[in-house]
Amino acid sequence: MPYKALLLDRDGVVNIDHGYVGDRSRFVFMDGVFALARHAMDRGFRVAVITNQSGIARGYFSEAAFLELTGWMRAAFQAQGVELAGVFHCPYHRGGTVERYARDSFWRKPNPGMILEAARRLELDLARSVFLGDQPTDMEAARAAGVERRVLLFPDGASTAPEAATSVIRRLEELIPALR
Ligand SMILES: [Mg+2]
Repeated sequence: MPYKALLLDRDGVVNIDHGYVGDRSRFVFMDGVFALARHAMDRGFRVAVITNQSGIARGYFSEAAFLELTGWMRAAFQAQGVELAGVFHCPYHRGGTVERYARDSFWRKPNPGMILEAARRLELDLARSVFLGDQPTDMEAARAAGVERRVLLFPDGASTAPEAATSVIRRLEELIPALR
């Protein structure tokens, strides 16, 4: 039987978005992210991260450095009792300077490729799943993939929700009661 999932964007949801975070020194976890992920796991959700990383295509950090940082991030979640079922990243960007990554990709949000791949590999039922992101492109990718609940984290309080979002929260903990 497929699993429901809590799918998390990374920058701006798991960690503070300082812009192209490629090493630990600039990786600061968002308040409440561990509690949210732990709650989701307790309620039977698989938790996975779905992240555009155009910093790789732009030459700001290598894919190896990203993977090393991801290993450290996963260990930090584990230390808080959370097993991430997967971390999916898209290194590509058409405007990149690193030739092998300088192209469009079906994986790059707002395209749904990463989410569809996560669903295939992790046996997810996207119709029962939640995507949490901080950009309209997260909401668009999730909608294109068929994720039923699309939650925008907007700390400053959105005047109008992007059309692809199904709800808006200002703090991560606000999502906890909705994960059942
Ligand atoms: Mg983000």
